[in-house]
Amino acid sequence: MPQEPASIWAATAAPAPQTPAIAGTHRADVLVVGAGFTGLTAALRLAEGGASVIVLDAGAPGFGASGRNGGQVIPGLKYDPDTLDAMFGEATTDFVGKAADTAFALIEKHAIACEPRRSGWIQASVKTSHLPVIERRMAAWAKRGAAVELFDAAAMARETGGQGFAGGWIDRRAGILHPLDYARGLARVALAAGARIHGGSRVVKLARDGSRWTATTQTGAVVSAEQAILATNGYTDGLWPGLKATVIPASSFQVATAPLPADLLARILPGRPAVSDTRRIGNYFRIGPGNRLMMGGRGSFGEPTGLPDYHRILKALHGFFPQVRDLPIDFHWSGRVAMTRDHLPHLHRPFPNLTIALGYNGRGVAMASALGTAIGAHLLHPAAPLPLAVTRIAPMPVHDLHPLYATAAIHYYRLRDALEH
Ligand SMILES: Cc1cc2nc3c(=O)[nH]c(=O)nc-3n(C[C@H](O)[C@H](O)[C@H](O)COP(=O)(O)OP(=O)(O)OC[C@H]3O[C@@H](n4cnc5c(N)ncnc54)[C@H](O)[C@@H]3O)c2cc1C
Repeated sequence: MPQEPASIWAATAAPAPQTPAIAGTHRADVLVVGAGFTGLTAALRLAEGGASVIVLDAGAPGFGASGRNGGQVIPGLKYDPDTLDAMFGEATTDFVGKAADTAFALIEKHAIACEPRRSGWIQASVKTSHLPVIERRMAAWAKRGAAVELFDAAAMARETGGQGFAGGWIDRRAGILHPLDYARGLARVALAAGARIHGGSRVVKLARDGSRWTATTQTGAVVSAEQAILATNGYTDGLWPGLKATVIPASSFQVATAPLPADLLARILPGRPAVSDTRRIGNYFRIGPGNRLMMGGRGSFGEPTGLPDYHRILKALHGFFPQVRDLPIDFHWSGRVAMTRDHLPHLHRPFPNLTIALGYNGRGVAMASALGTAIGAHLLHPAAPLPLAVTRIAPMPVHDLHPLYATAAIHYYRLRDALEH
């Protein structure tokens, strides 16, 4: 079975639940492919509603982005609420704005031990030219009842303990958690609710069989189900025609320092918020397990081979926090985020009984939890609306060249970030 990378999360998580590879032939109401936040929350909701569910993953639950991310639980999408209202209507904006509430409520309801902390998310502006944009964003969410606050440069220095921030805002709906413990905890409660979850079970074929779906794994096990959900995000392979070419699997890289000494810990991110900066190719950071300072950001498109590949992340870490320059780096790891052309998650239903959700653009901890739950509810009760518009599968042209043109795009945006500075 593919193994998770040696991340800070893998080193500190509770043991994984037993999810042995599937063998033989099985029937279920719903088949879920992918045991990340999308697939697991859908499976949990379905199992709680009395449906029989089988979840199959090529790795173990949380093997994909769900077990490797920054653990920043952030509501909202790339677009501001007024734009979302205009594009999709207020119900979608409301759903997006409540995504972090949904994740934290799930954790509380099921007592999932994943160090949840509703400490807020700070969007940190590294440029004065970004301040009007974030002020507008903040005001738009405030108008919808979100608890938010604007920070000037002095407040940012105090709230982050870092340097180089022109200002920022905090969204107190947000927070942090331990993502691998969250994924494993969701798997545990879904199992307890009756779902069957199998790791080491890559689905290599999905075929229609009358009104049902038949999935075949790489070892020849077969699952027949009335409904199927594909929740494969940045790890999407060729299972469903054209789907892989709807997303660019970009790498996100992260590092974690050795534990901060007490004097630094008291001054760096004292409120323990999640933070990301406003650059087009920006960074995100927080305090993680063992009081380590974590920094993440966009990496190369290939898999990293060693710490030198993380030089941009280290440069950001030491740029914002020169006081940690001498601390060793204890962990470095990466994972794949699914980027879409319109920067929005996509919901597809090529058949009424096949639901596909992917493309969180690096913002899926809250959104994938909320969307998976909503998909589960909809399959149980079709009157429960799907919260996002269903779109057709639209592969990107010349997708196979994505490492080339996406790398070029990243260089272009980095240059614009640098020129604006
Ligand atoms: C390094 C990193 C940092 C991030 N930081 C944040 C953050 O701080 N906040 C935030 O909101 N978001 C963050 N994200 C994004 C977030 O983690 C994802 O959006 C979210 O986890 C997506 O969940 P998912 O269930 O849709 O997909 P994933 O968790 O990626 O799961 C997809 C699963 O599908 C399985 N799969 C694929 N094909 C098959 C097949 N054919 N058969 C069986 N199984 C298959 C894979 O093995 C995988 O486990 C980050 C992502 C990364 C990589």
